[in-house]
Amino acid sequence: MKEYLKNRFALTDKGARGLIIASKYSTLKSLSFMLPIMLLMYVLQGLLGLGSFDIKIAILLFIVIGLFMFYILNRDYMTTYDETYKESANLRIEISNIVKDLPLSFYSRTDLTNLSQTIMKDVETIEHALSHALPGFYGFIISFIIISIMLLIGNIKLGLSVIIPILSSMILSFISKDIQSKSAKVYYKEQRKSSKMFQELIDLSTEIKSYNLSNEKMEESIKFVRKLEKFHISSELGQVIPITFSGVVSNLSLGLVMFVGLNELIRGNINVLYFAGYLFAAARLIDGTTAFSGYYGEMMFIDSPIKNINALRNEVVVKGKEANLKNFDIVGENVDFSYIEGKKVVDNISFESLQGRTTALVGPSGCGKTTVLRIVSRLYDYDDGQILIDDKEINKVAAKNLFKHISMVFQDVILFNGSVIDNIRIGNMYASDEEVLHAAKLANCDEFVNKLPNGYDTNIGENGSKLSGGERQRISIARAFLKNAEIILLDEIAASLDVENEKYIQESLNKLTKDKTVMIISHRMKSIQNVDQIIVMNDGKIEDIGTHEELLNRSKTYKKMIDSSIASEEFIY
Ligand code: ADP
Repeated sequence: MKEYLKNRFALTDKGARGLIIASKYSTLKSLSFMLPIMLLMYVLQGLLGLGSFDIKIAILLFIVIGLFMFYILNRDYMTTYDETYKESANLRIEISNIVKDLPLSFYSRTDLTNLSQTIMKDVETIEHALSHALPGFYGFIISFIIISIMLLIGNIKLGLSVIIPILSSMILSFISKDIQSKSAKVYYKEQRKSSKMFQELIDLSTEIKSYNLSNEKMEESIKFVRKLEKFHISSELGQVIPITFSGVVSNLSLGLVMFVGLNELIRGNINVLYFAGYLFAAARLIDGTTAFSGYYGEMMFIDSPIKNINALRNEVVVKGKEANLKNFDIVGENVDFSYIEGKKVVDNISFESLQGRTTALVGPSGCGKTTVLRIVSRLYDYDDGQILIDDKEINKVAAKNLFKHISMVFQDVILFNGSVIDNIRIGNMYASDEEVLHAAKLANCDEFVNKLPNGYDTNIGENGSKLSGGERQRISIARAFLKNAEIILLDEIAASLDVENEKYIQESLNKLTKDKTVMIISHRMKSIQNVDQIIVMNDGKIEDIGTHEELLNRSKTYKKMIDSSIASEEFIY
Protein backbone atom coordinates (compact mmCIF):
# COMPACT_ATOMS: atom_id res chain seq x y z
CA MET A 1 0.00 0.00 0.00
CA LYS A 2 2.76 2.40 1.00
CA GLU A 3 4.70 1.69 -2.20
CA TYR A 4 1.57 2.22 -4.29
CA LEU A 5 0.88 5.60 -2.65
CA LYS A 6 4.53 6.64 -3.04
CA ASN A 7 4.51 6.01 -6.77
CA ARG A 8 0.97 7.15 -7.44
CA PHE A 9 1.31 10.52 -5.68
CA ALA A 10 5.10 11.13 -5.90
CA LEU A 11 5.34 10.95 -2.10
CA THR A 12 8.34 10.30 0.10
CA ASP A 13 8.37 7.27 2.40
CA LYS A 14 7.18 9.39 5.33
CA GLY A 15 4.56 11.09 3.18
CA ALA A 16 2.99 7.77 2.16
CA ARG A 17 2.91 6.70 5.81
CA GLY A 18 1.39 10.05 6.76
CA LEU A 19 -1.29 9.69 4.09
CA ILE A 20 -2.26 6.26 5.46
CA ILE A 21 -2.62 7.72 8.99
CA ALA A 22 -4.53 10.76 7.71
CA SER A 23 -6.87 8.50 5.68
CA LYS A 24 -7.49 6.38 8.80
CA TYR A 25 -8.62 9.44 10.75
CA SER A 26 -10.65 10.71 7.82
CA THR A 27 -12.46 7.32 7.76
CA LEU A 28 -13.13 7.57 11.51
CA LYS A 29 -14.37 11.13 11.00
CA SER A 30 -16.84 10.02 8.30
CA LEU A 31 -18.01 7.15 10.48
CA SER A 32 -18.31 9.36 13.56
CA PHE A 33 -20.85 11.54 11.74
CA MET A 34 -23.22 8.58 12.01
CA LEU A 35 -23.08 8.67 15.82
CA PRO A 36 -25.35 11.76 16.30
CA ILE A 37 -27.85 10.06 13.97
CA MET A 38 -27.85 7.01 16.26
CA LEU A 39 -28.33 9.23 19.30
CA LEU A 40 -31.19 11.02 17.56
CA MET A 41 -32.81 7.68 16.84
CA TYR A 42 -32.49 6.65 20.47
CA VAL A 43 -34.19 9.90 21.52
CA LEU A 44 -36.90 9.47 18.85
CA GLN A 45 -37.47 5.92 20.09
CA GLY A 46 -38.19 7.35 23.54
CA LEU A 47 -40.33 10.24 22.30
CA LEU A 48 -42.45 8.00 20.08
CA GLY A 49 -42.72 5.30 22.74
CA LEU A 50 -41.19 2.70 20.42
CA GLY A 51 -38.72 1.28 22.91
CA SER A 52 -36.86 1.87 26.15
CA PHE A 53 -35.45 5.35 26.82
CA ASP A 54 -33.54 6.82 29.73
CA ILE A 55 -32.73 10.54 29.78
CA LYS A 56 -29.55 9.87 31.83
CA ILE A 57 -28.30 7.42 29.20
CA ALA A 58 -29.17 9.96 26.46
CA ILE A 59 -27.19 12.71 28.25
CA LEU A 60 -24.28 10.34 28.84
CA LEU A 61 -24.31 9.28 25.18
CA PHE A 62 -24.46 12.95 24.15
CA ILE A 63 -21.33 13.75 26.23
CA VAL A 64 -19.41 10.62 25.12
CA ILE A 65 -20.25 11.12 21.43
CA GLY A 66 -19.38 14.82 21.69
CA LEU A 67 -15.99 14.10 23.27
CA PHE A 68 -15.26 11.26 20.85
CA MET A 69 -16.10 13.41 17.84
CA PHE A 70 -14.04 16.28 19.18
CA TYR A 71 -11.07 13.92 19.54
CA ILE A 72 -11.48 12.39 16.08
CA LEU A 73 -12.01 15.74 14.30
CA ASN A 74 -9.01 17.16 16.09
CA ARG A 75 -6.81 14.16 15.18
CA ASP A 76 -8.08 14.27 11.60
CA TYR A 77 -7.14 17.94 11.30
CA MET A 78 -3.78 17.47 13.00
CA THR A 79 -2.72 14.39 11.05
CA THR A 80 -3.87 15.81 7.72
CA TYR A 81 -2.26 19.24 8.00
CA ASP A 82 0.71 18.24 10.10
CA GLU A 83 1.64 15.39 7.75
CA THR A 84 1.00 17.52 4.69
CA TYR A 85 3.30 20.36 5.64
CA LYS A 86 5.98 17.93 6.78
CA GLU A 87 5.61 16.11 3.49
CA SER A 88 5.97 19.25 1.35
CA ALA A 89 9.15 20.09 3.25
CA ASN A 90 10.43 16.50 2.79
CA LEU A 91 9.53 16.53 -0.88
CA ARG A 92 11.28 19.85 -1.47
CA ILE A 93 14.36 18.59 0.38
CA GLU A 94 14.32 15.38 -1.65
CA ILE A 95 14.06 17.36 -4.91
CA SER A 96 16.86 19.72 -3.80
CA ASN A 97 19.05 16.70 -3.10
CA ILE A 98 18.35 15.33 -6.56
CA VAL A 99 18.88 18.71 -8.22
CA LYS A 100 22.21 19.25 -6.47
CA ASP A 101 23.56 15.97 -7.87
CA LEU A 102 22.27 16.40 -11.42
CA PRO A 103 24.87 16.80 -14.16
CA LEU A 104 25.02 20.08 -16.07
CA SER A 105 23.82 18.17 -19.14
CA PHE A 106 20.44 18.00 -17.41
CA TYR A 107 20.25 21.78 -17.18
CA SER A 108 21.23 22.31 -20.79
CA ARG A 109 18.32 20.18 -21.99
CA THR A 110 15.82 21.31 -19.34
CA ASP A 111 13.59 24.34 -19.31
CA LEU A 112 14.69 26.09 -16.10
CA THR A 113 11.38 27.94 -15.58
CA ASN A 114 9.69 24.56 -15.70
CA LEU A 115 12.18 23.14 -13.19
CA SER A 116 11.69 25.95 -10.68
CA GLN A 117 7.90 25.67 -11.13
CA THR A 118 8.18 21.96 -10.37
CA ILE A 119 10.08 22.63 -7.17
CA MET A 120 7.71 25.35 -5.97
CA LYS A 121 4.31 25.06 -7.69
CA ASP A 122 4.07 21.30 -8.32
CA VAL A 123 4.97 20.49 -4.73
CA GLU A 124 2.39 23.06 -3.59
CA THR A 125 -0.30 21.47 -5.80
CA ILE A 126 0.46 18.05 -4.32
CA GLU A 127 0.54 19.61 -0.85
CA HIS A 128 -2.95 21.06 -1.36
CA ALA A 129 -4.30 17.74 -2.65
CA LEU A 130 -2.70 15.93 0.29
CA SER A 131 -4.30 18.23 2.83
CA HIS A 132 -7.63 18.77 1.11
CA ALA A 133 -8.41 15.78 -1.09
CA LEU A 134 -6.51 12.52 -0.69
CA PRO A 135 -7.31 11.59 2.95
CA GLY A 136 -10.96 12.62 2.41
CA PHE A 137 -11.11 10.59 -0.81
CA TYR A 138 -9.81 7.38 0.75
CA GLY A 139 -11.61 8.05 4.06
CA PHE A 140 -14.96 8.34 2.29
CA ILE A 141 -14.47 5.15 0.23
CA ILE A 142 -13.62 3.06 3.33
CA SER A 143 -16.35 4.55 5.51
CA PHE A 144 -18.87 4.12 2.67
CA ILE A 145 -18.07 0.38 2.52
CA ILE A 146 -18.49 0.01 6.32
CA ILE A 147 -21.71 2.06 6.43
CA SER A 148 -23.11 0.15 3.42
CA ILE A 149 -22.56 -3.20 5.17
CA MET A 150 -24.33 -1.87 8.29
CA LEU A 151 -27.23 -0.48 6.24
CA LEU A 152 -27.63 -3.77 4.35
CA ILE A 153 -27.57 -5.77 7.59
CA GLY A 154 -30.27 -3.44 9.03
CA ASN A 155 -32.61 -3.73 6.04
CA ILE A 156 -31.64 -4.93 2.58
CA LYS A 157 -34.27 -2.99 0.60
CA LEU A 158 -33.68 0.30 2.39
CA GLY A 159 -29.92 -0.31 2.36
CA LEU A 160 -29.92 -0.82 -1.41
CA SER A 161 -32.08 2.33 -1.84
CA VAL A 162 -29.37 4.37 -0.12
CA ILE A 163 -26.38 2.60 -1.65
CA ILE A 164 -27.28 2.21 -5.34
CA PRO A 165 -27.58 5.96 -6.20
CA ILE A 166 -24.52 6.83 -4.10
CA LEU A 167 -22.47 4.07 -5.72
CA SER A 168 -23.70 5.08 -9.20
CA SER A 169 -22.70 8.67 -8.50
CA MET A 170 -19.19 7.52 -7.47
CA ILE A 171 -18.90 5.31 -10.55
CA LEU A 172 -19.96 8.28 -12.70
CA SER A 173 -17.13 10.31 -11.19
CA PHE A 174 -14.67 7.52 -12.02
CA ILE A 175 -16.00 7.15 -15.58
CA SER A 176 -15.68 10.90 -16.23
CA LYS A 177 -12.00 10.79 -15.18
CA ASP A 178 -10.75 11.08 -18.76
CA ILE A 179 -12.80 14.21 -19.50
CA GLN A 180 -11.80 15.78 -16.20
CA SER A 181 -8.11 14.94 -16.42
CA LYS A 182 -7.81 15.92 -20.10
CA SER A 183 -8.99 19.48 -19.50
CA ALA A 184 -6.89 19.72 -16.31
CA LYS A 185 -3.77 18.63 -18.27
CA VAL A 186 -4.37 21.15 -21.05
CA TYR A 187 -4.76 23.94 -18.49
CA TYR A 188 -1.59 22.83 -16.70
CA LYS A 189 0.39 22.90 -19.96
CA GLU A 190 -0.88 26.36 -20.86
CA GLN A 191 -0.13 27.62 -17.36
CA ARG A 192 3.47 26.45 -17.76
CA LYS A 193 3.71 28.19 -21.13
CA SER A 194 2.49 31.42 -19.53
CA SER A 195 5.09 31.21 -16.72
CA LYS A 196 7.78 30.69 -19.33
CA MET A 197 6.51 33.62 -21.37
CA PHE A 198 6.48 36.00 -18.39
CA GLN A 199 9.91 34.81 -17.28
CA GLU A 200 11.24 35.52 -20.77
CA LEU A 201 9.63 38.98 -20.81
CA ILE A 202 11.37 39.82 -17.54
CA ASP A 203 14.73 38.39 -18.67
CA LEU A 204 14.57 40.25 -21.96
CA SER A 205 13.22 43.53 -20.59
CA THR A 206 16.32 45.49 -21.67
CA GLU A 207 16.12 44.17 -25.26
CA ILE A 208 12.35 44.75 -25.40
CA LYS A 209 12.76 48.37 -24.34
CA SER A 210 15.77 49.07 -26.52
CA TYR A 211 14.05 47.68 -29.62
CA ASN A 212 10.85 49.54 -28.71
CA LEU A 213 8.81 46.34 -28.55
CA SER A 214 6.95 47.07 -25.29
CA ASN A 215 3.53 47.56 -26.95
CA GLU A 216 3.81 44.48 -29.18
CA LYS A 217 4.90 42.32 -26.24
CA MET A 218 2.11 43.76 -24.09
CA GLU A 219 -0.46 42.82 -26.75
CA GLU A 220 1.06 39.35 -27.08
CA SER A 221 0.86 38.76 -23.34
CA ILE A 222 -2.73 40.04 -23.11
CA LYS A 223 -3.72 37.61 -25.89
CA PHE A 224 -1.97 34.82 -24.04
CA VAL A 225 -3.62 35.66 -20.72
CA ARG A 226 -7.06 35.70 -22.38
CA LYS A 227 -6.33 32.32 -23.97
CA LEU A 228 -5.22 30.97 -20.59
CA GLU A 229 -8.43 32.27 -19.03
CA LYS A 230 -10.44 30.30 -21.63
CA PHE A 231 -8.49 27.13 -20.87
CA HIS A 232 -9.07 27.73 -17.16
CA ILE A 233 -12.82 28.08 -17.67
CA SER A 234 -12.97 24.98 -19.87
CA SER A 235 -10.96 22.99 -17.32
CA GLU A 236 -13.40 24.08 -14.61
CA LEU A 237 -16.33 23.13 -16.88
CA GLY A 238 -14.67 19.79 -17.51
CA GLN A 239 -14.97 19.30 -13.75
CA VAL A 240 -18.26 21.04 -12.96
CA ILE A 241 -20.41 19.05 -15.41
CA PRO A 242 -19.44 15.56 -14.15
CA ILE A 243 -19.48 16.76 -10.52
CA THR A 244 -22.96 18.29 -10.89
CA PHE A 245 -24.26 15.23 -12.69
CA SER A 246 -22.95 12.83 -10.09
CA GLY A 247 -24.41 15.16 -7.40
CA VAL A 248 -27.87 14.84 -9.00
CA VAL A 249 -27.55 11.04 -9.13
CA SER A 250 -26.49 10.77 -5.46
CA ASN A 251 -29.49 12.91 -4.42
CA LEU A 252 -31.78 10.26 -5.91
CA SER A 253 -30.85 8.22 -2.88
CA LEU A 254 -33.09 10.37 -0.63
CA GLY A 255 -36.09 10.02 -2.99
CA LEU A 256 -35.58 6.28 -3.32
CA VAL A 257 -35.37 5.77 0.47
CA MET A 258 -38.51 7.89 0.86
CA PHE A 259 -40.38 5.80 -1.72
CA VAL A 260 -39.20 2.36 -0.58
CA GLY A 261 -39.34 3.35 3.11
CA LEU A 262 -42.94 4.62 2.93
CA ASN A 263 -43.99 1.44 1.13
CA GLU A 264 -42.34 -0.69 3.78
CA LEU A 265 -43.84 1.48 6.52
CA ILE A 266 -47.35 1.15 5.12
CA ARG A 267 -46.91 -2.60 4.83
CA GLY A 268 -45.76 -2.65 8.45
CA ASN A 269 -42.37 -4.20 7.57
CA ILE A 270 -40.48 -1.42 9.37
CA ASN A 271 -41.28 1.14 12.02
CA VAL A 272 -40.95 4.91 11.65
CA LEU A 273 -37.63 4.82 13.48
CA TYR A 274 -36.02 2.67 10.80
CA PHE A 275 -37.48 4.91 8.16
CA ALA A 276 -36.03 8.05 9.80
CA GLY A 277 -32.67 6.35 10.37
CA TYR A 278 -32.22 5.45 6.69
CA LEU A 279 -33.34 8.94 5.64
CA PHE A 280 -30.67 10.47 7.89
CA ALA A 281 -28.05 8.01 6.60
CA ALA A 282 -28.92 8.86 2.98
CA ALA A 283 -28.66 12.60 3.71
CA ARG A 284 -25.29 12.09 5.38
CA LEU A 285 -23.91 9.99 2.52
CA ILE A 286 -25.14 12.51 -0.09
CA ASP A 287 -23.09 15.20 1.69
CA GLY A 288 -20.12 12.83 1.71
CA THR A 289 -20.51 12.09 -2.02
CA THR A 290 -20.55 15.78 -2.91
CA ALA A 291 -17.27 16.25 -1.05
CA PHE A 292 -15.93 13.04 -2.63
CA SER A 293 -16.54 14.32 -6.21
CA GLY A 294 -14.69 17.53 -5.28
CA TYR A 295 -11.76 15.53 -3.89
CA TYR A 296 -11.67 13.37 -6.98
CA GLY A 297 -11.78 16.48 -9.20
CA GLU A 298 -8.80 17.94 -7.37
CA MET A 299 -6.88 14.72 -7.90
CA MET A 300 -7.01 15.33 -11.67
CA PHE A 301 -4.85 18.42 -11.21
CA ILE A 302 -2.03 16.50 -9.58
CA ASP A 303 -1.33 14.06 -12.42
CA SER A 304 1.00 16.43 -14.32
CA PRO A 305 2.89 17.63 -11.20
CA ILE A 306 3.36 13.98 -10.15
CA LYS A 307 4.71 13.13 -13.61
CA ASN A 308 7.23 15.98 -13.37
CA ILE A 309 8.43 15.01 -9.89
CA ASN A 310 8.77 11.34 -10.82
CA ALA A 311 10.70 12.31 -13.96
CA LEU A 312 13.15 14.25 -11.77
CA ARG A 313 13.52 11.22 -9.52
CA ASN A 314 14.42 9.08 -12.52
CA GLU A 315 17.18 11.40 -13.69
CA VAL A 316 20.67 9.92 -13.51
CA VAL A 317 22.66 11.84 -10.91
CA VAL A 318 26.42 12.37 -10.92
CA LYS A 319 28.04 9.46 -9.10
CA GLY A 320 31.60 8.71 -8.09
CA LYS A 321 33.84 7.24 -5.42
CA GLU A 322 35.70 9.16 -2.75
CA ALA A 323 39.30 9.75 -3.84
CA ASN A 324 42.28 11.44 -2.26
CA LEU A 325 43.93 13.30 -5.15
CA LYS A 326 47.57 14.23 -4.65
CA ASN A 327 48.99 14.81 -8.11
CA PHE A 328 47.26 17.19 -10.51
CA ASP A 329 48.49 16.34 -13.98
CA ILE A 330 45.51 16.09 -16.32
CA VAL A 331 45.72 13.44 -19.02
CA GLY A 332 43.05 13.07 -21.69
CA GLU A 333 42.99 9.96 -23.90
CA ASN A 334 40.76 9.65 -26.97
CA VAL A 335 37.99 11.70 -25.39
CA ASP A 336 34.61 12.10 -27.11
CA PHE A 337 31.71 14.24 -26.01
CA SER A 338 28.37 15.37 -27.48
CA TYR A 339 25.67 17.59 -26.00
CA ILE A 340 23.18 16.15 -28.46
CA GLU A 341 23.39 12.48 -29.35
CA GLY A 342 25.19 11.87 -32.62
CA LYS A 343 26.70 15.38 -32.82
CA LYS A 344 30.26 15.19 -31.48
CA VAL A 345 31.55 18.46 -30.07
CA VAL A 346 34.77 16.92 -28.75
CA ASP A 347 36.10 14.31 -31.13
CA ASN A 348 38.74 11.79 -30.06
CA ILE A 349 41.11 14.26 -28.37
CA SER A 350 44.25 13.29 -26.43
CA PHE A 351 46.28 15.81 -24.44
CA GLU A 352 48.30 16.41 -21.28
CA SER A 353 48.11 19.43 -19.04
CA LEU A 354 50.79 19.11 -16.41
CA GLN A 355 51.09 20.48 -12.89
CA GLY A 356 53.15 23.68 -12.73
CA ARG A 357 52.50 24.37 -16.43
CA THR A 358 50.03 26.53 -18.28
CA THR A 359 48.18 25.09 -21.26
CA ALA A 360 46.21 27.36 -23.57
CA LEU A 361 43.36 26.19 -25.79
CA VAL A 362 42.88 28.10 -29.01
CA GLY A 363 40.76 27.64 -32.09
CA PRO A 364 37.84 29.19 -33.95
CA SER A 365 34.70 30.07 -32.03
CA GLY A 366 32.49 27.01 -31.46
CA CYS A 367 35.33 24.48 -31.96
CA GLY A 368 34.84 23.02 -28.46
CA LYS A 369 37.34 24.80 -26.19
CA THR A 370 34.87 25.66 -23.38
CA THR A 371 33.46 22.16 -23.65
CA VAL A 372 36.92 20.68 -22.96
CA LEU A 373 37.14 22.73 -19.73
CA ARG A 374 33.63 21.61 -18.80
CA ILE A 375 34.47 17.93 -19.16
CA VAL A 376 37.84 18.31 -17.41
CA SER A 377 35.98 19.80 -14.43
CA ARG A 378 33.22 17.15 -14.60
CA LEU A 379 30.51 19.71 -15.14
CA TYR A 380 29.64 17.33 -17.96
CA ASP A 381 30.69 13.68 -18.21
CA TYR A 382 32.49 12.70 -21.43
CA ASP A 383 31.02 9.87 -23.47
CA ASP A 384 34.13 7.94 -24.51
CA GLY A 385 37.84 7.69 -23.82
CA GLN A 386 39.11 8.86 -20.45
CA ILE A 387 40.44 11.83 -18.54
CA LEU A 388 42.79 11.03 -15.68
CA ILE A 389 43.88 13.12 -12.71
CA ASP A 390 46.39 11.45 -10.42
CA ASP A 391 45.81 8.31 -12.55
CA LYS A 392 42.17 8.21 -11.55
CA GLU A 393 39.43 8.42 -14.14
CA ILE A 394 37.58 11.60 -13.24
CA ASN A 395 34.13 10.26 -14.22
CA LYS A 396 34.56 7.77 -11.38
CA VAL A 397 35.68 10.29 -8.76
CA ALA A 398 33.02 11.86 -6.49
CA ALA A 399 32.29 15.32 -7.90
CA LYS A 400 32.78 16.98 -4.51
CA ASN A 401 36.30 15.45 -4.24
CA LEU A 402 37.17 16.74 -7.66
CA PHE A 403 35.63 20.20 -7.27
CA LYS A 404 37.71 20.71 -4.12
CA HIS A 405 40.83 20.85 -6.32
CA ILE A 406 39.48 22.91 -9.23
CA SER A 407 38.93 26.66 -9.54
CA MET A 408 36.95 27.77 -12.55
CA VAL A 409 36.63 31.30 -13.80
CA PHE A 410 34.30 31.56 -16.73
CA GLN A 411 33.32 34.41 -18.98
CA ASP A 412 29.71 34.28 -17.75
CA VAL A 413 30.09 35.12 -14.09
CA ILE A 414 27.27 34.04 -11.79
CA LEU A 415 26.91 36.05 -8.61
CA PHE A 416 24.43 35.72 -5.78
CA ASN A 417 22.13 38.45 -4.58
CA GLY A 418 24.18 39.28 -1.50
CA SER A 419 27.13 41.35 -0.32
CA VAL A 420 30.51 41.53 -2.06
CA ILE A 421 32.21 39.77 0.84
CA ASP A 422 29.71 36.90 0.85
CA ASN A 423 30.07 36.50 -2.90
CA ILE A 424 33.83 36.20 -2.66
CA ARG A 425 33.53 33.82 0.29
CA ILE A 426 31.88 31.28 -2.02
CA GLY A 427 35.49 30.36 -2.90
CA ASN A 428 36.04 29.10 0.63
CA MET A 429 33.17 29.17 3.08
CA TYR A 430 35.55 28.71 6.02
CA ALA A 431 37.80 31.67 5.16
CA SER A 432 38.19 34.48 7.68
CA ASP A 433 37.27 38.06 6.75
CA GLU A 434 40.99 38.87 6.49
CA GLU A 435 41.55 36.03 4.02
CA VAL A 436 38.58 37.15 1.91
CA LEU A 437 39.83 40.75 1.86
CA HIS A 438 43.32 39.55 0.92
CA ALA A 439 41.91 37.56 -2.04
CA ALA A 440 39.86 40.60 -3.06
CA LYS A 441 43.00 42.76 -3.09
CA LEU A 442 44.86 40.21 -5.22
CA ALA A 443 42.01 40.24 -7.72
CA ASN A 444 42.11 44.02 -7.82
CA CYS A 445 38.64 44.45 -6.30
CA ASP A 446 39.66 46.88 -3.57
CA GLU A 447 39.53 50.01 -5.66
CA PHE A 448 35.94 49.62 -6.92
CA VAL A 449 34.59 48.07 -3.70
CA ASN A 450 35.82 51.03 -1.64
CA LYS A 451 33.65 53.30 -3.79
CA LEU A 452 30.48 51.27 -3.02
CA PRO A 453 28.18 52.76 -0.33
CA ASN A 454 28.85 50.00 2.23
CA GLY A 455 32.17 48.75 0.90
CA TYR A 456 32.44 44.97 1.08
CA ASP A 457 29.03 44.76 2.78
CA THR A 458 27.22 46.37 -0.16
CA ASN A 459 24.49 44.26 -1.72
CA ILE A 460 25.32 43.76 -5.39
CA GLY A 461 21.80 42.89 -6.62
CA GLU A 462 20.54 39.87 -8.53
CA ASN A 463 23.52 38.29 -10.33
CA GLY A 464 25.57 41.38 -9.48
CA SER A 465 23.29 43.67 -11.51
CA LYS A 466 24.62 46.73 -9.65
CA LEU A 467 28.18 46.07 -10.90
CA SER A 468 29.91 46.45 -14.26
CA GLY A 469 31.04 43.41 -16.28
CA GLY A 470 34.67 43.95 -15.29
CA GLU A 471 33.78 44.31 -11.60
CA ARG A 472 31.75 41.12 -11.65
CA GLN A 473 34.63 39.35 -13.36
CA ARG A 474 37.05 40.51 -10.66
CA ILE A 475 34.80 39.15 -7.91
CA SER A 476 34.84 35.78 -9.60
CA ILE A 477 38.64 35.92 -9.86
CA ALA A 478 38.80 36.80 -6.15
CA ARG A 479 36.84 33.63 -5.45
CA ALA A 480 39.48 31.62 -7.29
CA PHE A 481 42.23 33.30 -5.27
CA LEU A 482 40.42 32.42 -2.08
CA LYS A 483 39.88 28.82 -3.11
CA ASN A 484 43.54 28.43 -4.07
CA ALA A 485 42.84 25.12 -5.81
CA GLU A 486 45.55 23.05 -7.51
CA ILE A 487 43.84 23.11 -10.91
CA ILE A 488 42.81 26.42 -12.45
CA LEU A 489 40.57 26.69 -15.48
CA LEU A 490 40.18 30.14 -17.01
CA ASP A 491 37.75 30.77 -19.86
CA GLU A 492 37.98 34.18 -21.53
CA ILE A 493 38.30 35.87 -18.17
CA ALA A 494 39.72 39.06 -19.65
CA ALA A 495 36.76 39.55 -21.98
CA SER A 496 35.06 42.08 -19.69
CA LEU A 497 38.20 43.77 -18.40
CA ASP A 498 39.62 47.07 -19.59
CA VAL A 499 43.29 47.27 -20.52
CA GLU A 500 44.26 48.78 -17.16
CA ASN A 501 42.51 46.08 -15.15
CA GLU A 502 43.72 43.32 -17.41
CA LYS A 503 47.29 44.33 -16.61
CA TYR A 504 46.63 44.14 -12.85
CA ILE A 505 44.80 40.86 -13.18
CA GLN A 506 47.59 39.39 -15.29
CA GLU A 507 50.02 40.19 -12.51
CA SER A 508 47.83 38.63 -9.84
CA LEU A 509 47.09 35.62 -12.02
CA ASN A 510 50.79 34.95 -12.35
CA LYS A 511 50.88 34.64 -8.55
CA LEU A 512 47.69 32.57 -8.42
CA THR A 513 48.76 30.08 -11.07
CA LYS A 514 52.26 29.45 -9.79
CA ASP A 515 52.89 25.68 -9.47
CA LYS A 516 49.31 24.92 -10.48
CA THR A 517 47.84 23.01 -13.40
CA VAL A 518 46.42 25.79 -15.54
CA MET A 519 44.21 25.52 -18.60
CA ILE A 520 43.27 28.80 -20.21
CA ILE A 521 41.12 29.98 -23.10
CA SER A 522 41.66 33.48 -24.37
CA HIS A 523 40.88 35.08 -27.69
CA ARG A 524 43.60 37.65 -26.97
CA MET A 525 46.38 35.72 -28.63
CA LYS A 526 49.05 37.99 -27.22
CA SER A 527 48.17 37.02 -23.66
CA ILE A 528 48.94 33.34 -24.27
CA GLN A 529 52.13 33.61 -26.27
CA ASN A 530 54.37 32.73 -23.34
CA VAL A 531 52.46 29.73 -21.98
CA ASP A 532 54.11 26.31 -21.79
CA GLN A 533 51.97 24.69 -24.44
CA ILE A 534 49.17 25.67 -26.78
CA ILE A 535 46.55 23.21 -27.98
CA VAL A 536 45.04 24.18 -31.34
CA MET A 537 41.51 22.91 -31.78
CA ASN A 538 39.34 22.86 -34.85
CA ASP A 539 35.88 21.38 -35.21
CA GLY A 540 36.10 19.35 -31.99
CA LYS A 541 39.49 17.84 -32.85
CA ILE A 542 43.02 18.68 -31.74
CA GLU A 543 44.91 19.90 -34.78
CA ASP A 544 48.27 20.55 -33.17
CA ILE A 545 50.04 21.00 -29.83
CA GLY A 546 53.18 23.08 -29.28
CA THR A 547 54.67 26.37 -28.17
CA HIS A 548 53.91 29.72 -29.81
CA GLU A 549 57.05 29.56 -31.98
CA GLU A 550 56.52 25.94 -32.99
CA LEU A 551 52.94 26.53 -33.97
CA LEU A 552 53.65 29.71 -35.91
CA ASN A 553 55.76 27.60 -38.25
CA ARG A 554 53.56 24.50 -38.22
CA SER A 555 49.89 25.27 -37.76
CA LYS A 556 47.91 27.12 -40.41
CA THR A 557 44.96 27.57 -38.04
CA TYR A 558 47.22 29.07 -35.38
CA LYS A 559 48.92 31.40 -37.85
CA LYS A 560 45.52 32.53 -39.12
CA MET A 561 44.35 33.26 -35.57
CA ILE A 562 47.44 35.31 -34.80
CA ASP A 563 46.97 37.28 -38.03
CA SER A 564 43.30 38.02 -37.33
CA SER A 565 44.13 38.94 -33.75
CA ILE A 566 46.62 41.55 -35.02
CA ALA A 567 44.04 42.76 -37.54
CA SER A 568 41.36 43.11 -34.84
CA GLU A 569 43.72 45.19 -32.69
CA GLU A 570 44.05 47.57 -35.63
CA PHE A 571 40.30 47.77 -36.17
CA ILE A 572 38.79 51.23 -35.83
CA TYR A 573 35.04 51.90 -35.41
P1 ADP B 1 34.16 27.34 -28.00
O1 ADP B 1 34.46 27.47 -26.55
O2 ADP B 1 35.29 26.81 -28.80
O3 ADP B 1 33.65 28.62 -28.61
P2 ADP B 1 32.04 25.60 -27.12
O4 ADP B 1 32.75 24.51 -26.42
O5 ADP B 1 31.41 26.65 -26.30
O6 ADP B 1 33.00 26.26 -28.20
O7 ADP B 1 30.92 24.99 -28.05
C1 ADP B 1 31.18 23.93 -28.96
C2 ADP B 1 29.89 23.55 -29.66
O8 ADP B 1 28.99 23.03 -28.73
C3 ADP B 1 29.18 24.73 -30.32
O9 ADP B 1 28.68 24.29 -31.56
C4 ADP B 1 28.06 25.07 -29.39
O10 ADP B 1 26.96 25.56 -30.10
C5 ADP B 1 27.74 23.70 -28.77
N1 ADP B 1 27.25 23.85 -27.39
C6 ADP B 1 27.85 24.51 -26.39
N2 ADP B 1 27.14 24.39 -25.23
C7 ADP B 1 26.07 23.63 -25.53
C8 ADP B 1 24.97 23.15 -24.77
N3 ADP B 1 24.85 23.40 -23.47
N4 ADP B 1 24.05 22.38 -25.39
C9 ADP B 1 24.18 22.09 -26.71
N5 ADP B 1 25.19 22.51 -27.49
C10 ADP B 1 26.13 23.28 -26.91
